[in-house]
Amino acid sequence: MSEGRRAYSRAVERTEKMPAETRPPGVATVDPGSVLLPGHDVPLGRYTTVRRLLPQRQRRLVGAWCFVDHFGPDDVAERPGMEVPPHPHTGLQTVTWLLDGEILHRDSLGNVQPIRPGQLNVMTSGHGIAHSERSPAQHPPLMHGVQLWVALPDPARAGEADFAHHAELPRWRDDDLDVTLLVGELAGERSPAVVHTPLLGAQLEPRGPAPATLRLRPDFEYGLLAMSGAADVDGVALTPCALLYLGTGRERLTLRGEPGSRLLLLGGTPFDEPLVMWWNFVGRSHEEVVAAREDWMAGHRFGVVADDPAPPLPAPALPTTRLKARDRSGGVHG
Ligand code: MN
Repeated sequence: MSEGRRAYSRAVERTEKMPAETRPPGVATVDPGSVLLPGHDVPLGRYTTVRRLLPQRQRRLVGAWCFVDHFGPDDVAERPGMEVPPHPHTGLQTVTWLLDGEILHRDSLGNVQPIRPGQLNVMTSGHGIAHSERSPAQHPPLMHGVQLWVALPDPARAGEADFAHHAELPRWRDDDLDVTLLVGELAGERSPAVVHTPLLGAQLEPRGPAPATLRLRPDFEYGLLAMSGAADVDGVALTPCALLYLGTGRERLTLRGEPGSRLLLLGGTPFDEPLVMWWNFVGRSHEEVVAAREDWMAGHRFGVVADDPAPPLPAPALPTTRLKARDRSGGVHG
């Protein structure tokens, strides 16, 4: 067993001994301790496998963050890289953050925008938008990043679609930590990204060996993942391929990273509305998702992504049973 794997097993052992959550579903109270949730591999297209860290069976959301895919680092020097043809979204924002590589975003509002490391793309679907994401023909040899979704509350989820590219983000150096603020507010700084619920997204680069401390908001729940390297977070070993869920009620976080480690801290006030998530849609009911699927297949609502080299992706078949709404802890409603 590798050292990383051993540390990971130890962390799982330690967190599994912590008390299980006994809170009734949908009720936001203080969560005990921290839970390390291993992600799972999901093949995307012919060449790419991503690690899905949210949603998981027992943890659907961190704040309004409802989807977390970590991809790479992958060597794409001799390959096309990312190739995601036009597809629709409703009820969410997509947040794209790269550590390596380049992606060209095209959407049905007419935006054509390259994104490179250190920049942030935030696409707000509102009622409906379509987009494609591709590595340009000439692209860097590595592809590495995260794609995140944020569930939209009412009335934003029924509102206008929007796309924003943020080339400049707040960046600062604390005692033992470099911070880049993607979303929300931290340490008196504010990200230009527009979100619709109290939310945080920040890249943390511990410069150790001394532990770094970060002040947190007790009304937020948090999740932490290692995009590269490993870290010790309040005594728990955090390795890539896992999400460390930290409940509400925390005033601070102490972390120590290996040199070069880059962590992603996600947080927000608990989002208590049960969601139906299916394919690229976030809704509140089976009927809403069925309507979104029908609109996409009929060419309504989501618009057209101009100049993409591939035809739009057809929606997969719906399951034969009704889609169920799930709350943030995985509880089923309706
Ligand atoms: Mn998408």
